Amino acid sequence: MTTFPVPHGAGPPASHLPSRRRHGPPEECANAERAVRVVRTPRRQPQLHTRRALRSSLSPRCSPRSCAPYALPVTTHLAPDLLDRAAGVLVVQACGDALGVPYEFATPPRADEAAVMRGGGLGPYAPGEWSDDTQMAVCVARVAAQGRGLTTEGPLDDVAAAFEAWLTGGASDVGTQTAAVLRNAAHLPGRPAARLRAASQALHVSTGRTAGNGALMRTGIVGVVALDDRTETARAARAVAELTHTDPLAGESCVLWSEAVRVAITQGMLDVRAGLDLLPPGRRTLWAAWIADAEQDRPTADLGANGFTVTAFQAAWHAIASTKVPDGGAQLERDGSAASSGAVAERAPHTVRALQAAVRIGGDTDTVAAIAGALLGARYGTSDLPAEWLDLVHGWPGLDAEGLGELAHATARRGRSIP
Ligand SMILES: [Mg+2]
Repeated sequence: MTTFPVPHGAGPPASHLPSRRRHGPPEECANAERAVRVVRTPRRQPQLHTRRALRSSLSPRCSPRSCAPYALPVTTHLAPDLLDRAAGVLVVQACGDALGVPYEFATPPRADEAAVMRGGGLGPYAPGEWSDDTQMAVCVARVAAQGRGLTTEGPLDDVAAAFEAWLTGGASDVGTQTAAVLRNAAHLPGRPAARLRAASQALHVSTGRTAGNGALMRTGIVGVVALDDRTETARAARAVAELTHTDPLAGESCVLWSEAVRVAITQGMLDVRAGLDLLPPGRRTLWAAWIADAEQDRPTADLGANGFTVTAFQAAWHAIASTKVPDGGAQLERDGSAASSGAVAERAPHTVRALQAAVRIGGDTDTVAAIAGALLGARYGTSDLPAEWLDLVHGWPGLDAEGLGELAHATARRGRSIP
């Protein structure tokens, strides 16, 4: 794909990267986050819920007290549609992840085919099972849901410790850079967040780059942490990214995507430029150019080299921005058949069409679709998702769509519950 000059070195040579699994991506960018399979632990089969039950669960009950007019700052009293968009961040991310799993670094669906949550991939995964992208997002969400923010050392220690526990106790696959940081950090002294940052910085010094897409893939939930505070959102996005990805490009991509998620939830807009002013002045023009480049009409194959955080950002945004929004918005007819077989329905919701487009790009399909899904969910919520997806989607640590929605609700409320 067309790219703009990257202000860093060329990244680690391929020989420094662990050998890949069955399907290796082309040697596109040495900064790519490449997954390695790890020994799987038995997965608890979650209780599956019917679409009706999930709808009821994910959409908070409305009462005269809980449905007060939406206004910021937000803490405990959030409008039901806003809470549904918060839930959508994790739920639609998980759907995109599971939809992309079967095609990760394999042949993507043809233009006239719909991606299907049939499992397999690099796990191998069960149908509808999400992968490391959503697993790591859940690690962040379990801390975020406690309402302590993600900018101070205490919660960041908890996130770092959760990543380390996940690596040995739940990870089904893990990106190369993330794996190296977590494994090296285990041998360092000190508290978890400081150890991870030190290991990430050491990797950056030795390789020149740590800007794989592994931080961006888990950043959606960070956009839910401080719905009334864009500065705190940006600080949290950078802090969580830097636990494993020292390269400023990774943190910047997370700042932009997390702020876009926050704006989508609170204002109902899709705008990845909303956080440009949160970047250092010298970086804004560069990112604006990358965003404009991503919006160009182009063959999907041009976007397949998406292991790098910039190109993953571009691929996810291209899938969203280039997909036609159905007349009348996203809530038009929901054709469930689009989720399971055949071509994507002509009038399928934007969420469905954009996720299909993200997978069709190829490359790191689950990650690109997970990134896109977090933003699409923040904009449209869960109400236009195909029933099959909601019924199927599940994953570590034994959660389903309902469990993800509860984590996101608690995060949006800063850990507080509606009385
Ligand atoms: Mg993955």
